[in-house]
Amino acid sequence: MYNTIIIGSGPAGMAAALYLQRSGLKTLIIDKDAPGGQMLKTDKIENYLGFKSISGFELAAKMNNQLEVDKAFGEVTEITKDNYFTVKTNNDTFTSKNVVIATGKVNNKLNLPLEDKIKGISYCAVCDGAFYKDKTVAIVGAGNSAFTEALYLSNICLNVYIINRSENIKADNELQTRVKNKENIIYISNSVVTSLKEEDNILTGIVLNNKEELPINGLFLAIGGKPKLDFIKNVKNDNGYLIVNEKKETNIPGLYGAGDVIKKDYYQIITALNDGVCAALSIKERE
Ligand SMILES: Cc1cc2nc3c(=O)[nH]c(=O)nc-3n(C[C@H](O)[C@H](O)[C@H](O)COP(=O)(O)OP(=O)(O)OC[C@H]3O[C@@H](n4cnc5c(N)ncnc54)[C@H](O)[C@@H]3O)c2cc1C
Repeated sequence: MYNTIIIGSGPAGMAAALYLQRSGLKTLIIDKDAPGGQMLKTDKIENYLGFKSISGFELAAKMNNQLEVDKAFGEVTEITKDNYFTVKTNNDTFTSKNVVIATGKVNNKLNLPLEDKIKGISYCAVCDGAFYKDKTVAIVGAGNSAFTEALYLSNICLNVYIINRSENIKADNELQTRVKNKENIIYISNSVVTSLKEEDNILTGIVLNNKEELPINGLFLAIGGKPKLDFIKNVKNDNGYLIVNEKKETNIPGLYGAGDVIKKDYYQIITALNDGVCAALSIKERE
């Protein structure tokens, strides 16, 4: 019987684990993969305080090495609550008083060949924009995220294409006006990326459905994504993102959410750490 089970050992889950460990509460952290979460998919991290530049793999290993809580490997398939929580994985069943869900989110992809194999594709302008200083990039999408990222990149990059598959723009009017006023943002509608060009496993361009080829150095995907929460029922969410209060509590007593899985404004490693810490301190406060 654990005081707390944390599901997901990305930055949010690991931050919660560290604080619970230091509070002396019996804690288990479960992940279906190696510890690190999305950091393991990140070549270089240059916005994490204390390290000018560090590989995602190294940062993940450093965080994990600090943890002395129990660790289990497995995919959580069901969480139910009676007096206590029962957490089932494909290997085991565990029980606890509290559960922290820190399972992150899954970004939508274009599902093109090479997409997972080459460098130059990103889901986060704030994270990776600086790698494309004075270069040309493209963003796929036409919502607030795509337009916000385009504006951010337009201050760093030489040119920024926005590729929208239709004529329908979901971004706010104010964002649309700001994009129109930027000379180095080129908006292309009714277009779909049909293939990726590469040289030595590095992106060099994209081909559109009208066969036009755009030479670019970076491709940013802002076509949505969602947490995968099919292992729990009756938890309040907004379009799939857990709704939590400032203490990271969900509508179910004892159930907390932290990191990319919750509804919030900014999805970063540092904000995920903050969420994990808040969840752990709230749990400690209730003891
Ligand atoms: C390519 C890329 C580059 C990025 N670059 C940066 C950057 O430079 N700086 C920055 O601050 N942010 C960056 N980010 C964003 C940052 O990585 C995320 O905001 C952060 O990792 C979110 O942390 P998390 O702990 O909430 O979730 P995640 O890191 O997604 O971790 C979730 C964990 O939960 C596990 N899990 C999921 N479902 C289950 C289940 N059912 N059972 C068991 N385990 C499960 C997963 O295996 C994973 O390990 C980047 C993201 C990507 C994709």
